[in-house]
Amino acid sequence: MPGAASLGGSRVLLRKLREIMEAGGEAQQRLDRLVTMIASTMVADVCSIYLTRGAVHELFATQGLKAEAVHRTRLRLGEGLVGLVAETAQPLNIANAPQHERFSYRPETGEDPFSSFLGVPIVRSERTFGVLVVQNRVSRTYGEDEVEALQTIAMVLAEMVASGAFGHLSGIADVEARASRPEILKGKVFAEGLAIGVVLLHEPHAPLGRVIADDPVKEEARLEAALAKVRAWAVEMMEGDQSRISGASREVIETYLSMATDPAWELKLKNGVRAGLSAEAAVERVRGEHRAKFNAVRDPKLRDLIHDFEDLDNRLLRTLAGNDELGAGAPADAILIARELGPAELLDYGAERLRGIALEGGSSTSHAAIVARALGVPMVGVLQGLLSRVEAGDPVILDGESGEVRLRPQSEVVSAYRHRIEMRSARAAALARLRDKPAISQDGLRITLLLNAGLALDAHHLDEAGAEGIGLFRTEFQFMVSETLPRLESQTELYRDVLDAAGERPVTFRTLDLGGDKVLPYMQAEREENPALGWRAIRIGLDRPALLRYQLRALITAAAGRRLRVMFPLVATVDEFDAARVLVDRELAWARDRGREAPKTVEVGIMVEAPSIACSVPDLAGRADFLSIGTNDLMQYFFAADRGNQRVSERYDILNPAALRFLQRVCEDARAASLPLSICGEAAGRPLEALALLAIGFRRLSMPASGVGAVKQLILAADIGEAREAIEAMMRSSTSSIRFELVSFAEKNGLIL
Ligand code: PEP
Ligand code: MG
Repeated sequence: MPGAASLGGSRVLLRKLREIMEAGGEAQQRLDRLVTMIASTMVADVCSIYLTRGAVHELFATQGLKAEAVHRTRLRLGEGLVGLVAETAQPLNIANAPQHERFSYRPETGEDPFSSFLGVPIVRSERTFGVLVVQNRVSRTYGEDEVEALQTIAMVLAEMVASGAFGHLSGIADVEARASRPEILKGKVFAEGLAIGVVLLHEPHAPLGRVIADDPVKEEARLEAALAKVRAWAVEMMEGDQSRISGASREVIETYLSMATDPAWELKLKNGVRAGLSAEAAVERVRGEHRAKFNAVRDPKLRDLIHDFEDLDNRLLRTLAGNDELGAGAPADAILIARELGPAELLDYGAERLRGIALEGGSSTSHAAIVARALGVPMVGVLQGLLSRVEAGDPVILDGESGEVRLRPQSEVVSAYRHRIEMRSARAAALARLRDKPAISQDGLRITLLLNAGLALDAHHLDEAGAEGIGLFRTEFQFMVSETLPRLESQTELYRDVLDAAGERPVTFRTLDLGGDKVLPYMQAEREENPALGWRAIRIGLDRPALLRYQLRALITAAAGRRLRVMFPLVATVDEFDAARVLVDRELAWARDRGREAPKTVEVGIMVEAPSIACSVPDLAGRADFLSIGTNDLMQYFFAADRGNQRVSERYDILNPAALRFLQRVCEDARAASLPLSICGEAAGRPLEALALLAIGFRRLSMPASGVGAVKQLILAADIGEAREAIEAMMRSSTSSIRFELVSFAEKNGLIL
């Protein structure tokens, strides 16, 4: 906790810094005065500024080291203690610098006699472009207040360099304090599409020019008002729909609320403004500390807590900007840039506010990605270094075909993309014309194309895409996007709305598939070593049947007098299915006993996602009414590769001969057992994969809305019998994927992929 001394210290430093800036003069002179002033105020023997130019950190100004070293001492990126500070973007505070393993001795600086070293990064908008250092002869560790004071100065310095306050410092032109050149980052496509727009930062920054405050009293009042709003929001969340919240989830919300009212957090923020920072800059500094702590701790519970604090920091920054609501005040052509994004946050922004989304991390099977596809918003992820390369308002092109994000593109590139966007719309219009055509292949096979959905807003895709029903309705989405556990009535309402929208078309509801990568913020889950292999989906449903029975009750009520299709996720054994079916029967009896109208028909099915059940299909004859293969999970278990882990999720291909043989066998077993079978992972919606699946025997494909048109076009042009012969030959090879050969087959046969 910073003491009064640090506050005073920071305030004096900031005041003096302003005086230096206002006094004018050459940029180099001002930098020189700055280091002299910092050294004397902080009673340091040395104060130096290193700025990053290209691939080196160059000494730009110093008080205490030899003057001739200025602009001569250049450390390679990562070299020395300065390199370490820049690399970690964190302060380094050590009593005996020369003994540190990363110490790099430069004789021209004459730094031999200085033992203690405190270096802080000069960062703006996640971009580290320099290091501010103080050193002392005596060996000592600097106090927390001194570290804070130096960080405050570094923050203001960063802002000044970025906003051009130093003018054209000779040779400073290539110090990239502010990303300004065109850049291309390559990531992975999470949701297809192209977009041209401007950057909207999910984690906002203090706007340029608003780092130092003119009036600390006014600034503190602004901060207090914003804090009050954030607290009111937390209280509202606490009081909203309490009746269904279990003890544990209430606890989580209470923690959130207590964090929002945490006096230590508040004091840290206030100390920032009292030291002369703007409210935004004070929050940003505290957020920086939270982030540094988050990166440093390993304990998962503690990490969660720090992460929640970061969330609060972000909310506070948005509130200060006058945007309490996510995306409020966003430009009309916003492209959202975030480190990670939850599905609820994405829905809060809403499709109408976003042209596209680019993430530094993420994974294509994450729920935010699934929601983006449902909303039809293009999304690209795994873009390393993205956040340090953009500023709010930067022009950007999001290429959700190649996975590229082009920052600050030149005008010719923008024109080329405009042209591509027009072409895409023309293609979409052509596919839309196929909407009412049945999907019959050249050799006369009738294929059923269904939709994967999970939100009420998906229902309109049924007509738009021309799908024949919903093959997978992911009921957990409603749970994931709510702040609290949805009540029975709101579950019933959603299911009824979806059935209404579908009309005569069948809807297959999958019961809650929680656990694994699907975590509810309001239900405390036990941490598991291997969540994907852990207590999830039907396992939770059977062990804690209350939630599942509630859901079944809602489904039965919603389907009164209509057709009800329910399936259970991640069933691994026949027994599990039998037990789940008993719950359905019990709920039907419950409704009957109360004289309620029952569904006209009830079909109960299984999601084939565990290899064990995939190998038990013959035993399911007469027990289950239908099966649906979830390739996303089935393939993760088949290849033993976590679908949510970027390192391995795209390492294996479903077009691997062993995987195809495995799927083919399930298909044949289901046919022999007279069990209707569909396939509903993401793969079914990609034309090339769909071709392979049709060739090995599948006739019902369920997919995201965006895939229906293209898959139908492929079916209309394909001779599936011919494809079958070709693929069976390819499947005999030991290659890791037949993708390449299959593409040439498709091209030879004039199939559009
Ligand atoms: C699957 O596993 O293939 C599937 C469709 O379910 P989810 O992606 O929701 O796990
Ligand atoms: Mg699944």
